[in-house]
Amino acid sequence: MAVIDSLLKGYPIGLLYFVKTADGRYEVLDGQQRITSVGRFLTEKFAFPGVDGFERNFSSLPADQRAKLLGTRLTIYVCEGGESEIKEWFKTINIAGIPLNAQELLNAIYSGPFVTAAKEEFSNSMKPMLQKWKAYVRGNEKRQEILAEALRWVGRGDIDGYMAKHRFDEGIGELKAYFSTVIDWAATVFKGVEDEMCGLEWGRLYETYHANAYDPEAVWERVRTLYADEFVKSRKGIFEYVLGGEKDTRLLDVRVFEPKEAKAVYARQMADAEKKGVSNCPLCAVGHDANAKRIWKFSEMDADHVAAWSKGGATDISNCQMLCRTHNRAKGNR
Ligand SMILES: [Zn+2]
Repeated sequence: MAVIDSLLKGYPIGLLYFVKTADGRYEVLDGQQRITSVGRFLTEKFAFPGVDGFERNFSSLPADQRAKLLGTRLTIYVCEGGESEIKEWFKTINIAGIPLNAQELLNAIYSGPFVTAAKEEFSNSMKPMLQKWKAYVRGNEKRQEILAEALRWVGRGDIDGYMAKHRFDEGIGELKAYFSTVIDWAATVFKGVEDEMCGLEWGRLYETYHANAYDPEAVWERVRTLYADEFVKSRKGIFEYVLGGEKDTRLLDVRVFEPKEAKAVYARQMADAEKKGVSNCPLCAVGHDANAKRIWKFSEMDADHVAAWSKGGATDISNCQMLCRTHNRAKGNR
């Protein structure tokens, strides 16, 4: 509507960009919606509220307005040249104020039957599967972001390389099959859906973990428990943490002790060490080397969970001890 209104008033509707494909046809790179609106109006597919308030389709417009529409000159840039030329060309311009994103650019560079079929599958807002996909993949299908993720997965991170290799393929069989395999695997291993599952690197997770056997009931039980754990700061890390057998606590960004908690514990250990004439690192103090009586500065020590978080130890002051760097590193697991 806004497009027809602009044209009737003689306002510009912005630049249109076409790419000349290898077989000599033109593919719209930017301006698809504007062109479609004009085309649909001219072919009487919709009516437009005219200045007098009455809905008018094209044929019922006054003759001068019809002539004005038909006489409109559109500014169209046709992009031609090799891949690197087109790439360079697009790096330097912004289209209609909205720069092309990386995938839109790649679609232009590798235009052909593969891209056409891929867009049909992954950029189609009417696709019933889209709702399911969007539980796992973040992005706007119209901006080619779902397609980008599907290509990233099947291309093991190398979207450009995959598109170059498959550019002249007539179909997208492998792309489509791999994408569903990954999504179905994720939906089978994790029987529920959480917001934080959206946008994870499912392709990488699939490649790394799909050979393992999982009990979906037990997996989901662990996910629920970790979601309820107040010390887990990174919920999106829960899924890989569970897939990896709950070994890498870094994925969860478990809450660490605050400096004021560490300072209070340091003061308590200092008082104790002075009274007994031993080191203020409790592990040094029970040793038999030169450090047995060594007093470490606050800056030389780290706060440690006495009982590791992964074994149920809480991040509160009663479960905190200050250790010298060497002993804290040796203890590792928090
Ligand atoms: Zn020590």
